[in-house]
Amino acid sequence: MKLDYEKKDYLWAEMTWEEVEKYLEKTDTVLLPCGAVEQHGPHLPLDIDYFDADYLAKKVAENCTDPKPLVLPVIPYGVSYHHDDFKGTISVTNNALSLMIYDIGMSLAKNGIKKIIIINGHGDNAPTLNYAAQMINRDAKIFVCVETGETSDVDLYAMTDTPNDVHAGEIETSTTLALRPGLVKMDRAINETMEFKNKFLNFDNERGVNWYVRTSKISDSGVMGDATKATVEKGEAMWDIMIKQLTKFVEFIKVTQVSNLYQKRY
Ligand SMILES: [Zn+2]
Repeated sequence: MKLDYEKKDYLWAEMTWEEVEKYLEKTDTVLLPCGAVEQHGPHLPLDIDYFDADYLAKKVAENCTDPKPLVLPVIPYGVSYHHDDFKGTISVTNNALSLMIYDIGMSLAKNGIKKIIIINGHGDNAPTLNYAAQMINRDAKIFVCVETGETSDVDLYAMTDTPNDVHAGEIETSTTLALRPGLVKMDRAINETMEFKNKFLNFDNERGVNWYVRTSKISDSGVMGDATKATVEKGEAMWDIMIKQLTKFVEFIKVTQVSNLYQKRY
């Protein structure tokens, strides 16, 4: 039985080795989407973080000028131990994920890749991915960065009605309504908005300090935010912003020589 499918020429894993060899003559940049399989409240599917990272990476590549960056297959599993009081969550250790990313990075460097942009769809992967990125840079001496929403988070938070919308709330419910409405159970969407007494503990405060907690300590449903405020329109606007901002960043990295990326910061 044939699949109705159109080949995209920037997807690494759909190429032959000869096609990759040829493509690498015109680009030295790859996008590596990473996500998680974890609970997203009673109303959203478990795959949100890796599905969205994969979708974003492909959309960004599609929107880039030629030669487009190559998109690697998504890494679906992430560090989700803090969600494992909720069924369906599958977590790998920080060690396993960082080793996997390190090995992929070193392998990419052997292929001639000079710039790796890790597109991270799951906030709690960030410390692990950043660690791996540092080690790849140390050992392969190539450019590696981790984007966990930094290029668009300020805009997204400005569009939400409630603070601390970090998990399965207004943002993720809206972005999923925009792409896959059939997978969203809006009749099960609830409001579990969190407000912390100290601003340094707030997740979306620009002065917020990174801290760690098991989700079940602060949320009964697994939602952190207000899923009831989600709409298709907000979701579409959010995707537009995320794709536009990240494309700008990738375009810059893509056309800039590694030696020119390494400028003094201060
Ligand atoms: Zn998520």
